[in-house]
Amino acid sequence: MTRLTGHILTPEGFVEGTLAFDSAGRIAGLMGTPVPEDIVRASSEPLILPGFVDLHVHGGGGRDVMDGGDAAAVIARRHAAHGTTALLATTMTAPMADLEPAFEGLRAACARQRPGSARILGVHLEGPYINPGRLGAQPDFARPVALDELARLHALAPIRLVTLAPEVPGNMEAIGALVAAGYRVQIGHTAGSYDDGVQALGQGATGFTHLFNAMSGLHHRAPGMVGAALAKAQYAEIIPDLLHVHPGAIQVALRAIPCLYCVTDATAATGMPDGDYQLGRQTVTKCLGGVRLADGTLAGSTLTMDQALRNLVQVLGLELSESSRRVSTHAADHIGMADRGRLAPGAWGDVVVLDRELVLTAVYAQGERVELADAG
Ligand SMILES: [Zn+2]
Repeated sequence: MTRLTGHILTPEGFVEGTLAFDSAGRIAGLMGTPVPEDIVRASSEPLILPGFVDLHVHGGGGRDVMDGGDAAAVIARRHAAHGTTALLATTMTAPMADLEPAFEGLRAACARQRPGSARILGVHLEGPYINPGRLGAQPDFARPVALDELARLHALAPIRLVTLAPEVPGNMEAIGALVAAGYRVQIGHTAGSYDDGVQALGQGATGFTHLFNAMSGLHHRAPGMVGAALAKAQYAEIIPDLLHVHPGAIQVALRAIPCLYCVTDATAATGMPDGDYQLGRQTVTKCLGGVRLADGTLAGSTLTMDQALRNLVQVLGLELSESSRRVSTHAADHIGMADRGRLAPGAWGDVVVLDRELVLTAVYAQGERVELADAG
């Protein structure tokens, strides 16, 4: 039985103690004495935190979810080497002729856990039901919600999140049906107004996709979709690579949105050298830590979740315990997975071990050790 000893972050705070996995990969035992966070940060004991949960991953290690085939397995391995123990494979705005093969590739990847890889919990469908005027880096295949398309795709691989623009005709009315069918709805790639956002939340939408990016901004007489999120949201994604959103704007969101959580929006270029990569049908270029279309539009990121954690603690100045909730717990909670994103008896053995500089020294996914040498 694997046992880990150090400063363990539990839902009640840090303890100095021991954590053990059972043979099924769940946390069987967790014992220790409470220890204040300032003592933890001053110590060189190993830091034992929940594995990271990333609900917005397009690619990594040179592969894109839209490639289909074995791409998801490569992506899950690459992100696990950066501490992500569970993720949602994220598809692009595309015709069904492209989405169906991508979902075929995800069917096997979602059905079972590969040892030493992140668990693929399902799919985040980022479009095609978005505003054609707010594509960001999405190609121009936007269209209104079609429940029959969703059902066909969901039969191949489970859709956990659907990003949509509520102001697109027909979409507002569809939110209730999507929620009733078991999908969680996020507002994103949207030119909608503040009122559209409040109405969509009232219809059952529960989150916002990469807050601030590809949505109408906040003006004090026209608070826009950003205003709706800051005023009303319980959950929202944010990309903390410090390129997509200014640190000051992240601080604003942290004060306003209780369960703001981090995503990478990572592309195939993650963990790879500078050069050209595919993002769905688009060619993107990685250079100076950013990924962009030829016109300069940011096109996803090369962020990894271990770097996201370091950015929250070392750049934004958040406590380690709060940072951990924002890279693990809130995301798991948003998709209703109470046995991930926290270290507690009975939860999955998804664990990261870090040194005092917050560099990974070990990762366990469902109790299995992950090979860190793969990390790029
Ligand atoms: Zn994305």
